Amino acid sequence: MNVYCGSPIDRGLNRSTTYRGLCGSPIYRAIRHLTLAQIVERTRLLLLCLLLICTGSAFALPQDAAVPGGIAIVSLGEGKNAPKAWYQGRQVMVLQDASRWQAVIGIPLSVTPGRQTLRVQPQAGADRNVIFTVQAKQYEEQHLSVPPRMVNPSPEDQQRIARDLKLGADAYRSFKPADTIATRFILPVEGRYSSPFGLRRFFNGEPRNPHSGIDLAAPTGTPIRAPAAGRVIATGDLYYNGNTVFLDHGQGLVTMYCHMDSIAVKTGQLIETGQTLGTVGATGRVTGPHLHWSVSLNDARVDPLLFLAPETIAQLTQ
Ligand SMILES: [Zn+2]
Repeated sequence: MNVYCGSPIDRGLNRSTTYRGLCGSPIYRAIRHLTLAQIVERTRLLLLCLLLICTGSAFALPQDAAVPGGIAIVSLGEGKNAPKAWYQGRQVMVLQDASRWQAVIGIPLSVTPGRQTLRVQPQAGADRNVIFTVQAKQYEEQHLSVPPRMVNPSPEDQQRIARDLKLGADAYRSFKPADTIATRFILPVEGRYSSPFGLRRFFNGEPRNPHSGIDLAAPTGTPIRAPAAGRVIATGDLYYNGNTVFLDHGQGLVTMYCHMDSIAVKTGQLIETGQTLGTVGATGRVTGPHLHWSVSLNDARVDPLLFLAPETIAQLTQ
């Protein structure tokens, strides 16, 4: 069964992107005159280098993918104390990786690719701007048929949706200082990866917000686990999202869990990694039981896969 969902809280449609294919790539041109043995040896060396790069870090930063819906990791240099940084008016996460400070920036799906400006406030001295570049990314289209009320809600439903939007906006704009941030998540549900992040969706032929998280299909009642430690900052029964929980992990990293059958936590509660938040259900705008899971950085919804270990992604997408 296909299952899907959607949230008006998560806005932003990237219309100005171009497809970047592999045909005629520099990699193909570089290897086409090599023997098989040479290709194998060079691949082995490349993998060894990648392994050294991945394990050389003091901790696991999220995957650097400077595209709409991705994450840019920008070095802010060395220093005793952490600088502060802002992108599009929102404070961004700053972590120390070995001796260097790194800004971990969520990039909204609505961003036009190209040069971006990060405002940096050092511990001492004047503010400065750091430029980074966002590349284009083309997400797939998805066409779905749903009851008309779920595409064009009544005036009463619109009032409820407006309250839901305020709840979500307040949760996503949270920025709580925290020295220790979990930048590597466990999967919140053992389920089937039924819908990826970023799909450009059309409901009954009408364009709507892109898919702002991933869907994990599982039977109703399957436990949902916290992918990292945090604090519950909001819960509610939302029009599109059904029973919903927001977790604040600190420094603008907020996660959302939707369509739950039951909620097992309360606002203000501290949560440990792996703790049960509730169970999978089919509440809100859905066609079957699943968890919709969104991850937000500096109020930008990003692909949750960027926070998962490579072996977890491989297991999910096999
Ligand atoms: Zn979803």
